[in-house]
Amino acid sequence: MRRIIVLFSFILSITNLNAQQKISYLLNNQAGVNKVTIQITFDALSASDANLVIPKSAPGTYILTNYIAFVDDVVGYTTTGKQLPGMIGDGSFFTFGESDDLLNKVSYTVDIQKMEIDLLDASTSSKAREDYLGLFGYSVFGFIEGLETMSVNLMINTDPSWPIFSTLRPDTNGQYGTDSYEVENYAALVDAQYLLGTGVQVIRVEEAPIPLYVAAYAETTVDWKSIGNPGLLSLQKLADYFGYIPMPHYTLVYEFLDPISVRHDYGFNMEHLNSMTAHRDINTKFDANRDLGTIIHHMGHSWVPLRSYGEGYRPFSWQVAPLIETIWLNEGFIWYVSFHEILKNEEILNWWKSNMDNAPDFIKTKNLKELSLLGSTQYGSDFRIGKNLFSRGALMAYDLDAHIQKQTNGKKSFKDAILGLLNWSKDNQRAFKYNEIEPIMSKAAGVDLGPVWNKWQNAPE
Ligand SMILES: [Zn+2]
Repeated sequence: MRRIIVLFSFILSITNLNAQQKISYLLNNQAGVNKVTIQITFDALSASDANLVIPKSAPGTYILTNYIAFVDDVVGYTTTGKQLPGMIGDGSFFTFGESDDLLNKVSYTVDIQKMEIDLLDASTSSKAREDYLGLFGYSVFGFIEGLETMSVNLMINTDPSWPIFSTLRPDTNGQYGTDSYEVENYAALVDAQYLLGTGVQVIRVEEAPIPLYVAAYAETTVDWKSIGNPGLLSLQKLADYFGYIPMPHYTLVYEFLDPISVRHDYGFNMEHLNSMTAHRDINTKFDANRDLGTIIHHMGHSWVPLRSYGEGYRPFSWQVAPLIETIWLNEGFIWYVSFHEILKNEEILNWWKSNMDNAPDFIKTKNLKELSLLGSTQYGSDFRIGKNLFSRGALMAYDLDAHIQKQTNGKKSFKDAILGLLNWSKDNQRAFKYNEIEPIMSKAAGVDLGPVWNKWQNAPE
């Protein structure tokens, strides 16, 4: 009897411990309703200390997005059953008054339809249709300030006839109506995408070295399954180049959409840790093979910057769009790997040069760091900035490559430099500082890269 009691109390304390370290998220959606309700439950804290933060940007988007504009009905719940209305704060957050009441739950709604109408860039907005709900995590999930490193238990509830798919745990046989996920922390929760509804189609691509999926929503008849071929080829080519695959699984999320207005832009795609999201206008003929370069590029981001990055990229300041000095590296190095190294496209060098030559003066006169800081919020909204950033980064990679190969008689190349960054990140588990980048690459290549590095820091002449 005694032993049993001891064991019982031990289990209790373990359960308690887990309960203390977790936050629960509940996402509620009714089929055909273009809104979702989010409920966050956490260990009680004083109402005056509780801020509900709604993201204003996300890693790799390089844009300010006012997601709080689509949030409504914010309510805080106290342990004694009182309801406290959320009040909008001085930034992208809600407060719950000055009382000492203990708050342990908040809830709010997000209007997905309004989001899609107001955000002209399809790659920043979630989508709601009669048979489909496609969500970017960061567009709907907020967090209680200070609790973002805690592990998360997510539960999704929707119509019993609707299957649920998430890039967190891709599967061709999604659960119907309800599903739950254990997630490492807030950043991982919002990095993922969530596709709900009878309109969602999923296939697993055979013979891939890791579980590889295509998840699609199409408003027309389109050969979306053919995306599996360039998807598999991209994965194989990237694995050959880098020599390993860091993702446990990967999903290509594709939306084929009838534009909701002529001003809406379906040109940008978005990378995530273990997935990419692409949007295609159904009025343009789709040829999956033409997406090969795009897929290699976005999948390549799963190496850099998603698993090797400079300061500002991660940990991320969700309530502002943080200033990032290394966008040229994040984008340009992967452009170089994708198009020059893997696809062997020599002509692209001229295109990168022409992007630099044809830039307006306000771009040409900026040095590399200054242009990256500018691109932190305006990379795609003025794509001359974005194009210049990746062109400079890619051409720097080209110069580094030539220099390393020359100095080592072809024994080493740019690949050693980029692998040096990846290995450094694996060992150090933090963002590299700006002045650490060149020494890390020089050491890995066994060549002093200072002269090439310094040349590219300046504004072009
Ligand atoms: Zn990119």
